[in-house]
This record gives sequence, structure tokens and C-alpha cells, in this order.
Amino acid sequence: MSHANQSYAWYALRRSLPLFRFDELLEELVDCLPRYGVDEIIVIIDAEEFFHGHPRPEWIQYYQQKLFRIKEDMDKLGIAYSLNPWVTHGHADRGRDARKDFPGIQTIITPDGTELTARACPLCSVWQNNMTETWTLLSQTQPKVMWVEDDIRAFGENACFCPLHLKKFSERIGQSVSREQLVEAILQPGQPHPWRQEFLKMESDIMTDTAAFLAQIVHDVSSETRMGLMSSGPRNHCMEGRDWNGFTKALTKTSAPLYSRPTMGNYWEDSMRGLYHSQDSIKITRYCCPEGTIEHTELENVPFTRYSKTTTFSFLQMAISFAFGSQGVAINIYDHLGTPMEAEAHYGKMLGDKKPYLNAIAEYTQQPGVYRGVRLLHNDKYGHHCHLRQGDGLLGLTEDGFTTMQMLESLGIPTVYEESPATVAVGQQLQSYSDEEILAMLGGGLLLDAAAAEVLQARGFGEHVGLKSILPSKPLEEYGPLSAEEHFNTDFGGAVREYMTTLIPAIDYKARLSEIEVANGATVISRIVDPDTNPVYDCMTAFENKLGGRVVVHAWDYETALGVSFNGNIRRRQMQFVIRWLSKDKMPLLVDGDGAYPLAFRKDCANRTILGFFNLTLDPWQTVKFQLADHRKIRKVSLLSADGCWQTCTTMSIDKKDGVNMLTYNEPISFDTPRFWLIEWEQ
Ligand SMILES: [Zn+2]
Repeated sequence: MSHANQSYAWYALRRSLPLFRFDELLEELVDCLPRYGVDEIIVIIDAEEFFHGHPRPEWIQYYQQKLFRIKEDMDKLGIAYSLNPWVTHGHADRGRDARKDFPGIQTIITPDGTELTARACPLCSVWQNNMTETWTLLSQTQPKVMWVEDDIRAFGENACFCPLHLKKFSERIGQSVSREQLVEAILQPGQPHPWRQEFLKMESDIMTDTAAFLAQIVHDVSSETRMGLMSSGPRNHCMEGRDWNGFTKALTKTSAPLYSRPTMGNYWEDSMRGLYHSQDSIKITRYCCPEGTIEHTELENVPFTRYSKTTTFSFLQMAISFAFGSQGVAINIYDHLGTPMEAEAHYGKMLGDKKPYLNAIAEYTQQPGVYRGVRLLHNDKYGHHCHLRQGDGLLGLTEDGFTTMQMLESLGIPTVYEESPATVAVGQQLQSYSDEEILAMLGGGLLLDAAAAEVLQARGFGEHVGLKSILPSKPLEEYGPLSAEEHFNTDFGGAVREYMTTLIPAIDYKARLSEIEVANGATVISRIVDPDTNPVYDCMTAFENKLGGRVVVHAWDYETALGVSFNGNIRRRQMQFVIRWLSKDKMPLLVDGDGAYPLAFRKDCANRTILGFFNLTLDPWQTVKFQLADHRKIRKVSLLSADGCWQTCTTMSIDKKDGVNMLTYNEPISFDTPRFWLIEWEQ
């Protein structure tokens, strides 16, 4: 790929150049980057093993000369120059002690009262002054993007309960509060204590102020520099009450658009199924960012050798990034120990070899359009409203829904966070929605797990859900022996004696089930049977309500029930049937065929649809069947070849039934060769 041509698949390489080997590493960049197809270098400053804690102005002043040199060399190659200071508040202490270098610094105090040694509280003026001095020097090099790390966060060990935080909180509520009192109030089981909401609002305000403060330092010096934000997944950011709208506006006040770097997880390769997380992180983070945000997904590899990640897995993460519409990949696959990139030459070769192919995907997926599937929920205010159980810590404020996303995608039901004919609500999610919003969901297609159904019943929506009553869920052990879920209802694609195991989520018996009493007019789809196959409890129900909506309740508490044992062929048929029924035959995409663990997507652009399929198992799929609800007729289907060319697809058969296009692809698809099709619709 020549740089004279447009690089749709933008490669932004994040790279450390430690001082002890600076010249050699810079020379290598100049030599290798054009060959690797890299469009932008993001210099990471003082990172990981050789980091010195919060960088001091004297050190940055010295390193600034090195940055000017990098920029000059990159300019000659037509490669953009950006910066990534590695520390904001700090990722980890790792034996460093900021209190020695920065007298008077307030480090973070965790909920249990532990004083961290290196991570700084955002309210501390010593830290703020150091940020102003060092970031001013960095901004003088005029980077294209200044990246803020995801250590700008207030959850996990970065949740701060120091005296500055407690003073601020006490002022907000007009009474003096101790750390112990505040933590106890936040973690109150059941109905949330009002202090929890106030604390999360305060954390959100502090973070928004911090974002504005950082952007101001940069823009005072370099008004053209864009701000970039690495983030840790919006479900996690619910623990700190992040208000994405205010936070991103503060970052981009004087220079839009925002650059966003969603985590793609999988820092080391484990299972192919880890890729469900990667694609979801792209979708849910995009949902939270302003329109026009430029995404560079985070491809990372810890600890940066092929022992942690193969080129194949790395390629698949890049393919997912571009398949799901991101503009670039921020590549952090080389170590921060000063090892030359060519010591792991296979990565650079893969980057260069795959560029034309990735470019061909990105050129189409970056066109305006919408990804379509069943709708999942995200709400910034989840942490404000969710009910905690006794013993839950701050982690309990993490938004529910991740395992449900993975279950649906695994069963061939693509997910989105935007409009859809059907919505899936689980766990405590609906606590954050108003009655009007819930009624709107009940007037469409809505799948509820036990916990979500319980929330709606408690809020008085039982008549629209199709339940007379629902009891709080209990672990299976407390019910005695329950053997299987029987998907018996032939009207919903089932059959008598079609059993699914109750040893869930894995081979244990820990899943929680709710006892439900079905209302008149509701249909039972599946039931729980005992060891003699006698029906004991209703398990799944379907109901058409007077709002014109359709609701399905599944009596499992998904957060505890979903896992490898929940999935299977019968489950796939059951869930796909239910989702299609909920959508009144309008589900944009369902995927079936001869294989397991698909990852598919559909993006609609004007008169064209891009269809994609990843196989997340080692066995090839022999046949893939796509159901695309669409009243239009298909004019032509093209397939992307391995060398990045779109060619007429001769191996896709097309049939149409009840407004649904049935596409069957009869060539094997292996894990390392995802497939992409362009579907042209008749006008
Ligand atoms: Zn603090």
C-alpha cells in the first residue's frame, strides 16, 4: 500500500524509545515503518518496566529534544507523529513512591483505607502542577493526537477516598462524613442509599474537570492537537459514574473530533472466544462517544512476544476493528524494554502483508450506514440505580450485560446498541430507565432474564410482561434435583423431550432460577423437569401485551447462568426462534449452519449491505446460513478475496421466504480467514 493512496486501514504504532538505545530504535523505525504499512507513530513516554513514576519536568525537557528528532524523521516519511504519556494518575505502583519525589502529593486512598504510593489523586495540586509543567513541554512538540491513558479513572484501586475527596463530598451533602460511613452507604444492599448517587456524580464531575484541565494545557500550547482517550469499557466506567457526554465534551472543547481508543482486551491470547469482547468493546464505546469520533482500537500484546499472542490472533483483532467500522488500529505489540521490532519480525511482516486486505474491508465499512442486530442496553447511570446484594463490593456497580452479549453472539444473534426490532434487558439494567422508556421497550420486542423481569414486576409492569408473579432467584442447589430445561413447545421451534442441561454455567449447579407464575394469555415455551422428567417449573414464557409488544421471560438469572454449558444447538434454535418472534420476523440478521461460535455482522449503507462472518472455533464451518429480513431483492453478491479484491460470489445461494432473504454459503470457513460479502439491493 503506497502512502500516495488513501489508507482506510490506518495503522498507528505505539512505540517506546528508551534513552539507552534511542538512536538505534529511531533508525529502525525509519527503516521498517514504510514496510509495515504504518501511517502514524504514537510515541509512548517512560512506560512499563523502565518508567520512573510521574515524569519530572527536567526529564521531559531533556526528552523533548528526542521527540523533535522523531517528528522530523517521521515528517520526511509522511508518517504522522502523536504522543502517549504513559501516566496520568498512574496505572500501578510497582514499588515506586511518588511521595519521595513530590513532597506533599496526595496519593490515592482506597475504599479499605490503603494509601497507594505512586498513584495520584486528581484533586491534588502537586500532581496538577506537575501535569501542567510536563504536558506543556510535551505539547510544544505539536503532536497530531495527545493520548490520555485509561488510568484517568476512578474505579478499581483508583477509586479515591482521601481527605480531599471526603472534604469535597462532605461539602456536597452538608455534613461531615468518614471514609467508612461513605463506603458503607455506597454499598448498601437493595435500594441505593442517596449518597451513592451523590458520590458518583462527584466522581464524574472531578473526572470531567480533569479532562478539561488536561485538554486546556495541550490547547494552550498546540491548538491543532486533538485529544485521544483510551477507555476501559463503558460497563466498567459505570463504577465511577462516568458521564460520557460531559466527559468527552470537556476533552474536545477547543479541538474536535475526539480520538477514541477502546480496549480490545485479550492482552494475551487465550481462546478465540475472547474476540467477542473485542468487537463488543468497539460497539459499546462508540455508542458512548460523540458523533464523528475517530476510533483507533487498541491492539495490545502483553508481554509483547509470540508467546503471548500469535500473528493470526493479532490479525483477527485488526480485521474485527475494520469490519466493525473503526478508522484505525493503535498497535502496541512491541515491548518497552528497548528490544528492536525486528526481533519479532513476524508481526511487521503480517502488518505489511495484510494491509491491502484490511484496506479493502475498511473502505466499505467506513461508509455511512448502520450496524444492525438485536439491541443491548447501556446506561451511564447504571451505578446510580442498580441494587447491590449483601457482600457486594464496588465491583458490583459494573453494568450487567457482558455475558448476555457473548451468549447472543455465540448463538448467531448479532448485537448492537442502537435501534432494533427487539431489545434484550437483563440483570439490574432496567433500574436506570424511566417508566416511559420501559413502556416504549414493552411496546416492541423485549427479552427479559429473571432479574430483569423481577425489576419490572416490582415496578408494576407485570400486566405487560405476562407474569402473575415472580419470586427472587435462588441457586439451583436450593431447589433440590432439577435435571433439564425442556424446550418442548413446537410452536416455538421446540420438541417434546428436547432437553438442555441444568449443569450451568459450566458443569456446576450454581445458576440462579426464579419461580414464575404465568398470567392468562401467556404461552410457556420451556419448562424445568426433575430426574423423572416430570415438569416442575415453567422456564420460558412468551406474551403479547396490549401495548402491541411481545415479551419473552427466561427464568434464569443470566449473570449466573450463562457460560459454556448454556450454549448448544437446541439453545441456538430456541434463542433464534424467540428473537425472530419478538421482532415479528424483522430481525435484520440471524446466523446458522454447520459450526459453532460464529461472529457475524450486517451493516446497511444506502443500496448496499456489508455482511461479515468470523469463525471463533478451530473447526471450519462447512456451511453458513444467513437470514436477512429485508423487503428488497438482492441484485448481486460479491466476496472479498484473500488478496483484497471484491469478486462476484458464485458460491452463495439465495432464497426468499416471508420477507426474509435466506443466504447459504457452501464453502468451508476457517478461523483464520473471515469472510466478507457486499450485497447490492435492487432499487
Ligand atoms: Zn483523593
